[in-house]
Amino acid sequence: MAAAKVANRGEFETSEGVEAIGSFDEMGIKEDVLRGIYSYGYERPSAIQQRAIMPILQGRDVIAQAQSGTGKTSTIALSVCQVVDTSSREVQALILSPTREIASQTGKTIQAIGFHANIQAHACIGGKSIGEDIRKLEHGVHVVSGTPGRVCDMIKRTSLRTRSIKLLVLDESDQLLGRGFKDQIYHVYRCLPPDLQVCLVSATLPHDVLEMTAKFLTDPVRILVKRDELTLDAIKQFFVSVEKEAWKFDTLCDLYDTLTITQAVIFCNTTRKVDWLCEKLRSNNFTISSMHADMPQKERDVIMNQFRSGDSRLLITTDVLARGVDVQQVSLVINYDLPNSRDLYIHRIGRSGRFGRKGVAINFVKSDDIHILRDIELYYSTQIDEMPINVADLI
Ligand code: ADP
Ligand code: MG
Repeated sequence: MAAAKVANRGEFETSEGVEAIGSFDEMGIKEDVLRGIYSYGYERPSAIQQRAIMPILQGRDVIAQAQSGTGKTSTIALSVCQVVDTSSREVQALILSPTREIASQTGKTIQAIGFHANIQAHACIGGKSIGEDIRKLEHGVHVVSGTPGRVCDMIKRTSLRTRSIKLLVLDESDQLLGRGFKDQIYHVYRCLPPDLQVCLVSATLPHDVLEMTAKFLTDPVRILVKRDELTLDAIKQFFVSVEKEAWKFDTLCDLYDTLTITQAVIFCNTTRKVDWLCEKLRSNNFTISSMHADMPQKERDVIMNQFRSGDSRLLITTDVLARGVDVQQVSLVINYDLPNSRDLYIHRIGRSGRFGRKGVAINFVKSDDIHILRDIELYYSTQIDEMPINVADLI
C-alpha cells in the first residue's frame, strides 16, 4: 500500500516532448511585440521561457513551475502580448494574481512589453476607484490583470465583458486555488467562454493542486521542478539562534549596518508584529518602512513606489509580499519570524536573488523553532548554516 502511494505521488512530471527554444526570434513572435521584449531589456529567454512560451502560443493549456525570479510572470506578460488581437477592443486575456501588488506589477510589464504593439492592459484591483475601473473597461482594453475580488465584482457589474476572453492565467496559482480564493476563481471560470485556454504558474505546486487541475485544464503541458531543485544556489541561507523572542530585536539592530548595504525585506508573521517592530525600530532611530494588508491602498502604493525606486531601503512586511513582487535590488531577506509553511519559505527568500542575482536569507530561530528550520532544510534538500560573522561580504 505504502509503495503504491509513493508511486502514485510521482505521477506528475514534466510532459514529454517539451522543447527548449533558445531565442525569442525563433518563437514566431510578432515584430512589434519582439521589439517590446528587446527594448524591455530581455536578450535571451530564461529556461522556463524557452519551454513554456511556445506551448502557450500554440494554444495549449500549460502548467509552468520554475524557481522564484526566473521569469514565470514575464512568460505570461509576453505571451499575452502575442496572443491578443489589437484590432478588437475586447478583453481577450485575463490574468489573476493573489495580491494587488503583483496584479499591478504584471499590468505594468504588459503595458511596457506591449507598448509598440499598442496593447492596452488594465489592472483591476481592490482598494482602487470602482468608477475608474468601469470607465477604463467600458472604454475597452485588451488585457485585464487583476485580483479575484475586484474582477468578480467587475464581471457581476458587466463592466468586464468576458465573451472574448480566450486566455485565463492564474499566477501564483497554488495560492489562488487554495482556501481563501478558490470559490472566487471558480466563479470567474464559470463566467468565461467554454473553449478557454488556461495557464497556471507558480514556484510551488503541491500535489493536491496538480490533482485539482484536471477539473479545468485540458491535456495540459506540464513543466515541473522537483522539490530538491527548488531552492536557488545563488541564494545563501543562514540562521541565527536566539534563545527567546526578545533577543530577535537586538539581533536585528546588530545587523542594521549590514542591512543598509543593500535593499532588504524583513518578514513578520502578523500585521501587529510589523507595526510593533516598525515603531520599536523608529524609536531607536532606525530608518525603516513597513507595509501590510491592513493599510489603505493609497498608502500601500506610496510605500511600494518608494521601495521600488530605492528611496526606502528596508521594508518590514507580512506574507502579503512573500510572493511575486519583483524588486531587483533586494539582495537580503530576513525572516524575523519563521514562515508558517514550507511553501512560504521558498517564496519569501525568493524576493532576493532575482533573475540570477546573488541573495542572502537570514532566519531568526528561537530554540523552540529549530525543528521548523530543520524540516525546511530536509524537505528541500538544502543547507541552512549558522550565519557567519562576515555575512556582509556575501551581499
Ligand atoms: P518569477 O515570476 O519567476 O518570479 P519574473 O517574471 O518576475 O520571475 O522575473 C524576475 C525578473 O527577471 C524581473 O525583473 C524580470 O523583468 C526579469 N526577467 C524575466 N525574464 C527575463 C529575460 N529573459 N531576460 C532578462 N531579464 C528577465
Ligand atoms: Mg512571478
